[in-house]
Amino acid sequence: MPTHYLYRCNCCDYEGMRYRNVTRCKCGGTLVRVPTPTRRRRIAAVQHEIWAHWMRYLFSKCDFNHDGAAVIPVNLVTRWERQLNTPYAELSESEQESDLHQADKITEVLGR
Ligand SMILES: [Zn+2]
Repeated sequence: MPTHYLYRCNCCDYEGMRYRNVTRCKCGGTLVRVPTPTRRRRIAAVQHEIWAHWMRYLFSKCDFNHDGAAVIPVNLVTRWERQLNTPYAELSESEQESDLHQADKITEVLGR
């Protein structure tokens, strides 16, 4: 099983493995779990995919001027402003479902 995490001291420059459940660095600082560079890249790739999916959708709903500028229809501006100012727990069931679908993409990567 590959190791997904490194540990970094919150006090000195130590970065590396940790012995069993030791939580203290030799310097007395606390060892904080950080993802390996490979895992960070995988998470970043999924985050990029989620962003690209959203931008593709947004552009598909826009009108384009001759100069290439995208114009978001006012009904969508109104909807998206409401959504971005609404905490997740207060979104409609279908709006939450859409975010859950994106969460599944991250969950899949975190399992690796
Ligand atoms: Zn330390």
